[in-house]
Amino acid sequence: MKEVPAIVHVELPRDAGGFVRRECPRCQRDFKTRPCRHDANILQRRLASLFPFENAHESFDEVPDWWCLYCGHRAAGDEWLTPAQQAHVEDLARSWANHVRYEQLAHVSRTLSLNPRPTFVSVPPAALPGPMSPDSDDLRTLPLVCCGEEVKALWDWEGPLFCPRCGTRHGGLSGRQQVRLEFIEE
Ligand SMILES: [Zn+2]
Ligand SMILES: [Zn+2]
Repeated sequence: MKEVPAIVHVELPRDAGGFVRRECPRCQRDFKTRPCRHDANILQRRLASLFPFENAHESFDEVPDWWCLYCGHRAAGDEWLTPAQQAHVEDLARSWANHVRYEQLAHVSRTLSLNPRPTFVSVPPAALPGPMSPDSDDLRTLPLVCCGEEVKALWDWEGPLFCPRCGTRHGGLSGRQQVRLEFIEE
């Protein structure tokens, strides 16, 4: 009899440079930051909301708010999963629930061994989904001086940038606009 896996490993995929993709819940643009020590917590909380784990009563560490790199929207740290990351977590939760249900049915059928006509046959569930494939390298790396961290932004983004960690706004004027302002001031 196959056992229900006791530990599920779930991790956000990284690109070749080690960055993790995030998606703004408001403007839905993608950016990337380095893996964060809260990522595990964010995934745990998401899994626990989908599947009642034995240790779900354990309190999770608070996850700090993040800011959108582009629109400056501020939201709780666990609202920045991309649709693909969310789908993976949901897939994992569903798959694990199937394993648990199978184990429960198998237990019932074992204890009903005296019954000459079993009323159901439990079908072994599919294996748990493997890890997500590594992320593609489609954004450009930018340093943010406020927190001394690198982020990855859309190639064609020309607006201001907000630090995802502290919300500090950087820039906001294109080169041409800056020249015009300087001209007006003279
Ligand atoms: Zn945004
Ligand atoms: Zn910052």
